[in-house]
Formats: sequence, structure tokens, C-alpha cells
Amino acid sequence: MIRQRSEKIVGAIEAGGTKFVCAVGTNPQDLNRIEFPTGDRPAHVLSEVTNWLGEQQRRRGRLQAIGIGSFGPVDLNSNSPSYGFITSTPKPGWRNTDIAGFVHQKFPDLPIGFDTDVNAAALGEYYWGNGIGLEDFVYITIGTGIGAGGLVGGHLLHGLVHPEMGHMLLPRVPGDTFEGVCPFHDGACWEGLCSGPALMNRSGILASNLPSEHEAWKFETQYIAYAVANIVCILSPRRVILGGSVRKAGLLGSDRFFQMIREKVQIVLNGYIVSPALSEDISGFIVPPLLGDDAGICGAIALAQEAII
Ligand code: ZN
Repeated sequence: MIRQRSEKIVGAIEAGGTKFVCAVGTNPQDLNRIEFPTGDRPAHVLSEVTNWLGEQQRRRGRLQAIGIGSFGPVDLNSNSPSYGFITSTPKPGWRNTDIAGFVHQKFPDLPIGFDTDVNAAALGEYYWGNGIGLEDFVYITIGTGIGAGGLVGGHLLHGLVHPEMGHMLLPRVPGDTFEGVCPFHDGACWEGLCSGPALMNRSGILASNLPSEHEAWKFETQYIAYAVANIVCILSPRRVILGGSVRKAGLLGSDRFFQMIREKVQIVLNGYIVSPALSEDISGFIVPPLLGDDAGICGAIALAQEAII
């Protein structure tokens, strides 16, 4: 499948758990942008967002579409009455929020592209980042939560609902007594063991101040390696792009963080899957996003531009 996007000017919304990023433009080099705190009143932040998009439209000319990459869980089934909703989130105030419907009401003539925040980020990397030329890759974010999206055969991963790889269950690392932070999975899932809040709870120290020799990094990178190995076994991606704030890894440093994960993935897979990508070329297989923290908002631009085609 060959994906296509228009080059026209569009609006973009990256709806995150702590902030909304909005942009208007045509590509990563041509974006006007602004941020609003997510808060606990959806109608308030969505009004700020749509008012700003309207103002930009008056300055830059008519928008041709709007793309939304949202935290979830979200309903992506276009036949469902709750299509475009944030559904069962534990985030206060946001349960059953019709986010795409709100934007559609304000811009009734415009096509709207709607997907998860991580699928949007994957799409950004596909057009402008480390996913260029790849029809099979996974984008992971490790921050406030853990999520993953990506492409298989050029199609964004959707399926029954959408993947929730952050809640895959992982084997316990020997010696780890941390109880985890996921309220659903009792210390057994990836997000519960490895998200930013998990790292903070495990060590009692902010990730940015966590000493490089602290054992929390050992556990963090080991669980990430288990999860990446599982993803490799299930989806056979040609690359794994690892974004989100935890990848910056404070005093440990991003380079060392990625190096530890790559080494541990090789140990976990133990030579079973034979590909140069997993042996001598592993430094090009598990990589940070080329767009950095802008993968999501750039992807929302692409979602909008694909919605025009
Ligand atoms: Zn969980």
C-alpha cells in the first residue's frame, strides 16, 4: 500500500494527557504552533484549540482539513456511534468526550483525520522521520503512559479497537519488588513497570535527576527490552522508533539508554530471529524519533493531509 498526502495547508491537534499541541501549516518546516494545558474541562480546552485554529485560518488562508492524534482509548470505528470519542480513560473529566465531533461542529466543511496519538506520531515519522521508506515499523512512546502504534504493510494499526501494547504483561525481572503503578494490571504490565510515573515511584527520584548507576535504569531497560522483543516476535517490524520523555534518560543519557536496550533485546532474543537488523545493524533498528518531540503534531498534520486525498 502506498500512502498519499496532500501538500495543502491544514490544522493539527495533538491531544495529550498533560497538554494539547496545535499547529497550522503544510510540513514540519512550516508550522505555526501553540500549546494549551489539557486540564479537566474538555469543552474549555477544545474551545481554546478551535478558536486558535479559526484565528490562524483568518491569517494564513482557508484550512483544507484538520488532523487529530489523541490520547485514548479512542473509538476509531467509523461505523460506531461513538466514533471520534475518547472512551474509557481514567483521566478526570475526559471519559466519553466527543473530541472529533466538537472539532467537526466548529469546522463542518472540513475533512477530519482522527487516530491515536501514537499512530499519528508513527505517521509523522513515516513522512518526515525515521520511518521514511518503511511500510512496517512501530512507534513507541514512554512518558506519562506507554503506548505504541505503527504501520503493517503500510496500514496504520487499528483492528478491533487499537493496539494497547503498553499494557502487555511482562515477566518479572529477578530481584524486582516494585508493585507497579497500573490500576488494571497489578504490577504486571509494561506501563505499570516502566512509565515515567513508574520510574519516579520505583526510585523516589525524578528521572532527570536519577543517577546513571541507579538500579532503576537496569530494571527500566530490561523491561523495555522484554517488550520490544515481544513486539519483534509478534509484528516483525523493520524498525522500532522509541519516543517519549523517558528516552532522554536524564543523567544516564539517551545514547547509553538506547545502547542498554539494544544489548538487552539481543540477549532476550538470543539469536533466534535471524536478521542483520537484530545483530550487527541493531543501532539502526531501535532508534529515537528523528522528529523528536514533534513526531505527534507533525503526524496530525499528515493525518489531515491524508484525509483530503
Ligand atoms: Zn496495565
